Amino acid sequence: MAGYTAEDEQIIGQQFNDLLTSCNKICHSEADWEMIKKAFFLAKEAHKGVRRRSGEPYILHPIAVARIVVCEEGLGVKSTCAALLHDVVEDTSYTVEDIENLFGPKVASMVDGLTKVAAALNEDVSAQAETFRKILLTLSDDIRVIIIKIADRLHNMRTLGSMPRHKQIKITSETMYLFAPLAYRLGLYAIKTELEDLSLKYMYPEEYATIQAKMEATATERNEFIERFIQPIKEKLSQAGIDFTISGRVKTVYSIWSKMQRKQIPFEEIYDLFAIRIIFKPNELTPEKAQCWHIYSLLTDIYTPKPDRIRDWVSFPKANGYEALHATFMRPDGIWAEVQIRSERMDEIAERGFAAHWKYKQEHDTEDEFDKWLKDVRHAMSQPTGNAADFLENVKMTLYMTEMVIFTPKGEARKFPVGATALDFAYDIHTNVGNTAIGAKINHKIESIYTKLNSGDQVQILTAETAHPTIEWLDHVATMKAKQSIITYLKRVRQNNIERGISIFDNRMREFGITPSARLFRKLLPAYDCTNKDEFYSKLGSEIINLSDIDSILRQNSKNKVLKFWTFDFASGSKSKDVIVKSSRDVESIGEQKFVPAECCNPIPGDNITGYRDPITGDIIVHKTDCEELIRLAAQKGENLVGNIKWATYKAESYLSEIRLRGLDRVGVLRDLAQVITVELDINIRELKIQSHDGIFEGKISIYVPDTESLYSLMDKVGKIKGIDKVERV
Ligand code: MN
Repeated sequence: MAGYTAEDEQIIGQQFNDLLTSCNKICHSEADWEMIKKAFFLAKEAHKGVRRRSGEPYILHPIAVARIVVCEEGLGVKSTCAALLHDVVEDTSYTVEDIENLFGPKVASMVDGLTKVAAALNEDVSAQAETFRKILLTLSDDIRVIIIKIADRLHNMRTLGSMPRHKQIKITSETMYLFAPLAYRLGLYAIKTELEDLSLKYMYPEEYATIQAKMEATATERNEFIERFIQPIKEKLSQAGIDFTISGRVKTVYSIWSKMQRKQIPFEEIYDLFAIRIIFKPNELTPEKAQCWHIYSLLTDIYTPKPDRIRDWVSFPKANGYEALHATFMRPDGIWAEVQIRSERMDEIAERGFAAHWKYKQEHDTEDEFDKWLKDVRHAMSQPTGNAADFLENVKMTLYMTEMVIFTPKGEARKFPVGATALDFAYDIHTNVGNTAIGAKINHKIESIYTKLNSGDQVQILTAETAHPTIEWLDHVATMKAKQSIITYLKRVRQNNIERGISIFDNRMREFGITPSARLFRKLLPAYDCTNKDEFYSKLGSEIINLSDIDSILRQNSKNKVLKFWTFDFASGSKSKDVIVKSSRDVESIGEQKFVPAECCNPIPGDNITGYRDPITGDIIVHKTDCEELIRLAAQKGENLVGNIKWATYKAESYLSEIRLRGLDRVGVLRDLAQVITVELDINIRELKIQSHDGIFEGKISIYVPDTESLYSLMDKVGKIKGIDKVERV
């Protein structure tokens, strides 16, 4: 492994010096400086000679991450060391013990956490939902691990240009799905905004470039406008003796793009391309809240306010700690402009999030919204639902929620995500209130518990001892807590039913003098329309089924019974005729695959498309590249993405044919058959019927094939499946 050139060394030295300069405000002793230098020299030695994909020395990456940690996240010396060392254990021969010996347990445990997160993200095989769960688990250990990881991700996003396309999509999806929401939840607004903006840039490069060009074209005009708008404000506030700064902030490409999407309007119709921010130095004598409103009132002397557009995050801070007063005023051109009013303290919390938040919290020592959220996540974590994807969905729900304030009858304010219902409110009061809720008085009017709440509503829950949760309730709640409580209740009921079912069944079998066997269940389950024993017992215990006709079922001969009946129907739409072909580069990695247009976004020829390999069927589901479902899937299981798919330039015609087959019944024959037809061959099945009796099975398959050659090749392949001895064309 070669070392670095003199030129490299010079760049490394310069960047490290920049880092040291930024560390001025966090290093308070000689020992602090020594520790950071030691971390740098160790990281440099460990990554010696290694280069990033862009060609630059690897060590520049940890230096950049450390710089983000110090300058943009406001963390301290130990976190800075952990940032410098974050890839050392993952990528080199150093161990966590080495780090502990040199830097102590705190830094070592952070590096350990970062290594685990990195390892989880690198796993290509396991489901990434599980990965994300592991990442979120580190929240409960040391939240700084996640904050450093976000810095790592931010630097990777800033340098994503040198990555191959499929990596860009995978990393971008993870960023949109997990890291940007996490940054938001941790109050790191500036970073969240940049992560989203970079994600957009790599996800839809053309749209991004177009909006950016339009922003640039209108920049001069806009800046003049902002200047003219803030001039009278400056004069007014100065006259009032307020110490403040004011600036016009241009919105990001991402926020403009998402507004265009949300409202379905072109760029030219978006007027709030900027927001005005006033940051004041509070005077000691008046509460900051009152000073915010004082500034607001001064502004109303100059411009006309829009009273229904006031957002008071000062009286009700967001769950991530954000505080500010947002108001909208009429501009001289008759268009509305947003003004954000914050104290210096509020601004630091808004920009630095967690770190600043902690700093101020220590002075007051109270549990706040952020602690409450963290407690909720930990609580959920301690009761795993068993399904990592569901779990993640729940956590994500609480990550990105925009909030409403709902009042109890006594006037206590509680926060809920937009979309929350009276039922969510009931569960927020107490699990028992939720479990027995029958209705709600919303603003003194009786409504269903499914009613969606609006910010400002006053809610009282009506309960009845006899009421209990049903599975439908899950469709009418938006909070993790309500969901979890309902699932827990339903599971408990199901378990009770299963136990009751087992005892009913055992008693009945004893009457018959039969010992239950696997064979017996093979006969019973289909007769009662159940797929497994648990379902059977549970239905029996809850009296959905009873055993009144069990003797006739037991006497029934099991011969000639239809075992399976599948129908695939791809022929109803004309879409399936638009065959998608692979570009020549990808033939090897894809092989003979079936392509299915995704139902969620229905791509048609000409759409920009990306494939996603269904992990169960092996089919490649073709989505529009901007399909939200695809982004979600890509974030969870990015390894299944298939790039470089193009629309065919020709349209294939398919014809319906039928083949008949016969063979020896054996476990797995159906699976093999489906595998050959749908995965190995690009053929649509219309219908597949299999009957089995006396160890022999017979099947009939209706398929769409383009020509006889494909038909004979299919029959050939089917004939080679173990156990099949006869294949003929009907
Ligand atoms: Mn890294």
